[in-house]
Amino acid sequence: MIKRFILFFLLLDNFVVQSLKKLFPHAYRIKGKCKMCGQCCEEILLKMTPRQMNSKFFRDLVVRWLSWLYGFIFIRYDTERYYLVFTCRHRGGQGKCQNYVWRPNICRNYPLVDYFDKPVFLEGCGFSSSAGSSDRNRIKG
Ligand code: SF4
Ligand code: SF4
Repeated sequence: MIKRFILFFLLLDNFVVQSLKKLFPHAYRIKGKCKMCGQCCEEILLKMTPRQMNSKFFRDLVVRWLSWLYGFIFIRYDTERYYLVFTCRHRGGQGKCQNYVWRPNICRNYPLVDYFDKPVFLEGCGFSSSAGSSDRNRIKG
């Protein structure tokens, strides 16, 4: 119950942020659609700062929090690139999500599109990107 309550507010926050982003479009536009292969659920990488990564207390706290809240399963620390690497207990057969309604924002917003960097996709992913018409010249330049 507490978990659903927290998730509800996180979903609301995500809705507001994504709505605002529509007012300031990214330089790249996402094309295609999800093929539901489940590849992006196999390893979930969460970026940390070097300072966060070097704090055992903070690292453990984040791992425990995300495991409890999202059902993520911690796999390893990537100490060279500063990522926490998880997989997910909600992965169902044939790549289907078994927690679709309550899936975290990181899953809802995937593939993530940065404002300036060209998006990167997993091999075989159904999504790709193209430059938005208003920003085509800026990217090429
Ligand atoms: S890798 Fe791409 S196509 Fe496969 S589940 Fe993730 S978003 Fe969908
Ligand atoms: S919650 Fe669903 S979409 Fe997100 S990582 Fe887990 S299985 Fe994939």
